[in-house]
Amino acid sequence: MIQYREIIKNREYASMNFYLLFFLLIIIVGLVVSYIYFMRDKSDQLRAVQEGVCPKCHKESMELVDQRSTGCSGPKMLTFECRECKYVSTFHVNTQGGCSSGKCGI
Ligand SMILES: [Zn+2]
Repeated sequence: MIQYREIIKNREYASMNFYLLFFLLIIIVGLVVSYIYFMRDKSDQLRAVQEGVCPKCHKESMELVDQRSTGCSGPKMLTFECRECKYVSTFHVNTQGGCSSGKCGI
């Protein structure tokens, strides 16, 4: 009888662990998927903005108003502003290569 109880206990413990793992897996997958979607959305937006199209009013009135770089190999901060609706968007772009590639900006 005691043995039987022990088995039941172990089984409950195992299934609890399984549900916990399953729950964690769902959360991790959810986070990864939303991160990928966010990054894809952001890069799509950047592509449009770099072509001068405003993501808000869809007019070709976006202008690069500020450009800052935190260092030669660090990410570059680009600020775009729309002349029509005053929409401002900031992007952090990883510059490829160092100063030797001529993309440093300084
Ligand atoms: Zn606009």
